[in-house]
Amino acid sequence: MNMKLIDCCNHNLQTFGVVCGHLKTSGKNLGFHEEEAEDQRKPDAWCNDCHERWQFMNQSEIEREQWEEICDFKVVCGVCYEKIKEENQTVNNFDIEVLPVEKIENQLSRQEYSTMAAEYFPIWVPDLYVGMISTLETQIISIESKLLNVEEALKVNLSRDKTEEWIFATSTGEDYWTFDREQNIIYYERLGDEFVTKKMNIHFDQWLQLCFVLQKLDRIQEKYLVTIALKKALQQSFSIINPVLVDHFKNII
Ligand SMILES: [Zn+2]
Ligand SMILES: [Zn+2]
Repeated sequence: MNMKLIDCCNHNLQTFGVVCGHLKTSGKNLGFHEEEAEDQRKPDAWCNDCHERWQFMNQSEIEREQWEEICDFKVVCGVCYEKIKEENQTVNNFDIEVLPVEKIENQLSRQEYSTMAAEYFPIWVPDLYVGMISTLETQIISIESKLLNVEEALKVNLSRDKTEEWIFATSTGEDYWTFDREQNIIYYERLGDEFVTKKMNIHFDQWLQLCFVLQKLDRIQEKYLVTIALKKALQQSFSIINPVLVDHFKNII
């Protein structure tokens, strides 16, 4: 690997990183938000103010360029980078904690059914799902998860040839989620022309926990750039739900 080096007046030849002008020139405790580097050099980093400013400046290419201009990124050597990091890093608290299932149940939108249409579900779909879905509306929990109510689930599944799996949710796009006869949850993710399937060893309650974490992630991503710290916090939430999710969703952001 051919690594580019720079000549720092204090530390001689070093790898380099890029930090916003505020971090380079002023103060301490400005916050330190780090993005993963593309190659072997140190990543880009910016201060709290630049981090907050992003949410008002990410709607167009022009705005994003203006954001970069205000950030006024500067190249620093790897040793200087670590020193700036140490002096400015503050604790990041991300709101992506895993909710207990009882709390999630309170947050789901409900609807009343006059008949027990869930009786038409196959006997092998999990009881937990049947019990919950019989009072729920169709609802988008996150970009990846739109839970189907009883009527929609029946409509989608009864028109399918494939009867050994039951679709219980879709995404806001073309992806979807099924139970197989062993009650595994399978995620069908549309990639190009085909669907890639991921068999998750999780139960329906864990699936709900996952979707509520993803919902919080959607909200964070509307406002902020993805940082290394956010990725770590997310992996931690996944592993609390079930360690298998860490691997399944390692590239989600
Ligand atoms: Zn800054
Ligand atoms: Zn240096």
